[in-house]
Amino acid sequence: MNELRRSKELFEKAQHVIPGGVNSPVRAFKAVGGDPVFVKSAKGAYMYDEDNNRYIELINSWGPMILGHGNELIEEAVAEALKSSLSFGAPTAKEVDMAELITSMVPSIEKVRMVNSGTEATMSAIRVARGYTGKDKIVKFEGCYHGHGDSFLIAAGSGAATMGTPNSPGVTKGTAKDTLTAPFNDLAAVEAIVAQNAGEIAALIVEPVAGNMGCVLPKEGYLQGLRNICDKEGIVLIFDEVMTGFRLSRSGAQGVYGVKPDLTTLGKIIGGGMPVGAYGGKKEIMDYVSPQGPVYQAGTLSGNPIAMSAGLAILTYLNENPEVYDQIESSGKYLAKELSSINTALGKNYTINQIGSMISLFFTEEPIHDFESAKGADTVMFGKYFQGMLAEGVYLPPAQFESWFLSTALSTVDLEEILTAHKKVLGKIL
Ligand code: PLP
Repeated sequence: MNELRRSKELFEKAQHVIPGGVNSPVRAFKAVGGDPVFVKSAKGAYMYDEDNNRYIELINSWGPMILGHGNELIEEAVAEALKSSLSFGAPTAKEVDMAELITSMVPSIEKVRMVNSGTEATMSAIRVARGYTGKDKIVKFEGCYHGHGDSFLIAAGSGAATMGTPNSPGVTKGTAKDTLTAPFNDLAAVEAIVAQNAGEIAALIVEPVAGNMGCVLPKEGYLQGLRNICDKEGIVLIFDEVMTGFRLSRSGAQGVYGVKPDLTTLGKIIGGGMPVGAYGGKKEIMDYVSPQGPVYQAGTLSGNPIAMSAGLAILTYLNENPEVYDQIESSGKYLAKELSSINTALGKNYTINQIGSMISLFFTEEPIHDFESAKGADTVMFGKYFQGMLAEGVYLPPAQFESWFLSTALSTVDLEEILTAHKKVLGKIL
């Protein structure tokens, strides 16, 4: 790899005018040491930095670029839409097409509202759940991330049923007290919280496959168990599929596990790389949203025609080419299997969690099924591994507690290049 001279210069300048030098914290590479790489362009499976170093992409804009960079269908749709103005702030045919496509691909979604980010989607989903039920409290799970809305920036309490406390200055105690937290994959803990707060819980929000403590799969029966608890108690079940939506299947994680939530939040892939989010679900609940119902939620740029064009292009492609999911799943399985055999040959049985095109390599040999177990991974080792892989031209998420995202643009040659780098780097740092 060449030097990172230009990236270093840019980071130096950026820190004077942007907090921490970046527009989203994880981009600063704080968890892995070293300075961030400033990106100039990307095409297919490769990204190029400002110093013209080439990287194989395993972040893909944190998920959206499932077809790789520079996909022609998406770019042509955007170019065509540009001819008709960038924004109207008025209803368009494309929004109707987008809503019809989403509702046809994800059966639990009967009505959907477009917003501009995953954060907006989750904030709005809990508001409508609260409006619909007339209750205030929500349950979230330790290690699940739902964007940076105040209600979600809550640390886990000491016990499963503990009231949350703010873990970001700026989140008020008043807001925090309405967010209850439970460990992921532990139905008994949820039952206890629900019993202690009987009649007060509006919604339970969960990443059906967690991707924000590394990739963590739900145990068998866990999602159905949550569904049963919500049905019994009249709680709105929200699947946050901002990450998993259209990534794990055409109907997301809910399609894979066969459990229907009441509401679903979406983002990332549905914008094809443009800033888009959405929330939707049962008609009866979504009809509480303004102007049909009393729960207010709005957006100047919501349903933006350029963003809708990109989203329609990618979703149409995924809908019409279901073999994409088989292809990407076999890349995911192959990578997981080969990484594991390299590790074993080096005397390490590191835990690898994988589903479809989401993978995490944890620097621990213990199974990872919740945030507590994920925290047992060796983050110092991960930092060394990350830097080694970067130097070998493989761009991984810069934190142990993130999932890698594969794209269909990765060729078998790229996969081999990743494995060669892995073997070399691990051999060096062990
Ligand atoms: N929900 C999940 C599961 C996410 O992974 C993210 C972002 O990574 C969000 C919500 C927030 O989305 P955004 O960053 O678009 O606001």
